[in-house]
Amino acid sequence: MFNIIIFGPPGAGKGTQAQKISESYNLIHLSTGALLRKEVSKQTPIGRQVQTVMASGGLVSDNIVDEIIENEIKRNGQVAGFIFDGYPRTIHQAERLDIFLASTALPLVLNLEVGSEELITRLKLRGQESGRADDNEKTIANRLKIYTEQTQPLLNFYAEKKRLISVNGQGSIEEIYTRLQEQINNKK
Ligand code: AMP
Repeated sequence: MFNIIIFGPPGAGKGTQAQKISESYNLIHLSTGALLRKEVSKQTPIGRQVQTVMASGGLVSDNIVDEIIENEIKRNGQVAGFIFDGYPRTIHQAERLDIFLASTALPLVLNLEVGSEELITRLKLRGQESGRADDNEKTIANRLKIYTEQTQPLLNFYAEKKRLISVNGQGSIEEIYTRLQEQINNKK
């Protein structure tokens, strides 16, 4: 198995790049944000529980996202691997994922580096185009703050384990994808 975490702040392009990588390398794309949005739109018990915190840009509790991810991994059985997008976002989640995947392959972490001004521009544009409820100015600021406080520390966590590769996340989608492919092909 070959597993990847696509990492970076909100607006770094994780979803776009994860989709492309999943197609080329035949990996299952698991986006906790997309899975949670589906729960909200179906108004399941989980969806009702998480919708307020998602709309404010806060993090959903670790137990909920850990369970969603573990169920998806189990449900997908024999696959070439997974690409995780938007997960893990806390040290607790990262530890849990490592325990869960230890019997297969610990994921390689590809970190998309994008400057904060560029992130804000991209997120505002996405809000206009996709109408995502959490891509508005106030929520964007909160999501970036939460990223810095709770998610960014994962960079050290993975760097210490020698599993972190940072890639310039600015440029065209194809340019960024080529940079990611080079790193993946080196490690595969
Ligand atoms: P995303 O599509 O990855 O930007 O996620 C959208 C929202 O879903 C986030 O702002 C959080 O409210 C929630 N979410 C997604 N992934 C996670 C996670 N791993 N841990 C906690 N909350 C999450």
